[in-house]
Amino acid sequence: MTEALSWAATVRLVHERVQYCCEYCFTSQWVTGQAMHVDHIVPGAGDHPDNLALSCATCNLAKGDATEVLDSETEEKVPLFNPRTQVWSEHFTWIDSGCRIQGLTVVGRVTVERFGMNLKRLVVARSVWVLAGVHPPDISED
Ligand SMILES: [Zn+2]
Repeated sequence: MTEALSWAATVRLVHERVQYCCEYCFTSQWVTGQAMHVDHIVPGAGDHPDNLALSCATCNLAKGDATEVLDSETEEKVPLFNPRTQVWSEHFTWIDSGCRIQGLTVVGRVTVERFGMNLKRLVVARSVWVLAGVHPPDISED
């Protein structure tokens, strides 16, 4: 059994375990200079690290309290990507030399849509980050 972490220790753990990158779109805090948000994956389900994800402001604000969305193609509810229980590379891939994110699954596709992961401003920013050699970040998943 592990002792509950203080909120400060939890926030530090959430940042460090993903090397300060958004767990949805992999935007790096060190590339943007913007503070990251600590997303409650399932709102109201507590502050345990298993319910928390590091998120850029764009992803976190687009996600809001949602855990699932209506798929515009099938009209069915589909869960959003959960970085604690799912593997990013199974649901998403980089296209256009790392400038755009493509969903590989229904979960990936609806998450890309909901979060606006390929908004023009993000694609333009990523193209600069790619040229600078700082994107996409090399994060190994186990
Ligand atoms: Zn993001």
